[in-house]
Amino acid sequence: MRMRGGFGAGGPKNELVELPSDPSGFVRRECPGCHRTFKVRASRLDQGLVLQRVVGKVSHENAHEALCALEQRCCPYCGAGALDDAWFTAEQRAWLDKRAETLLLEVRYEQLAHVERTLADNPSPTFLPVRPEMPDCTLRPERNDMRLVPLLCCGEELKVSESWLGPVRCFFCGREHELGATVIRQRLEREL
Ligand SMILES: [Zn+2]
Ligand SMILES: [Zn+2]
Repeated sequence: MRMRGGFGAGGPKNELVELPSDPSGFVRRECPGCHRTFKVRASRLDQGLVLQRVVGKVSHENAHEALCALEQRCCPYCGAGALDDAWFTAEQRAWLDKRAETLLLEVRYEQLAHVERTLADNPSPTFLPVRPEMPDCTLRPERNDMRLVPLLCCGEELKVSESWLGPVRCFFCGREHELGATVIRQRLEREL
């Protein structure tokens, strides 16, 4: 996701704010019910969700652009249902909220700096805007872990924990899939 903005004296800049995906292009998700993690293929919707989370915390004139249609999803392990924006991991939420905090400071700084610039005739400004420090925090890169499970129901794929041997529900439609056959096939493929 690129955020457009005119922050600071450097003029407009684009900043990439996105969740890390693993080498196969999957992004980690966490069930809000059982807190187990799994992965879904990174999509354009992720970018919308990230933007929505960040600008949701910041009063922003373009906020309406970030609103994306949310659908009900299903936990592959426990079957709990929740809307699209409920599946960030704890680490992703903390990181996005931290980013939103800094964005808010940048917006305030820019507003003050603007007032200062337009008060050029004022010989003694009563305040000096102080540019906020950009936090040097990034999310850890995503490892290429977990077991790939094809979802024939929706033509999608999921990644679930290697230690999970129970049935896996489709994140998108909730249909239950037996893992047994997939696990045996993957073991055979590895051994051959
Ligand atoms: Zn769950
Ligand atoms: Zn499905």
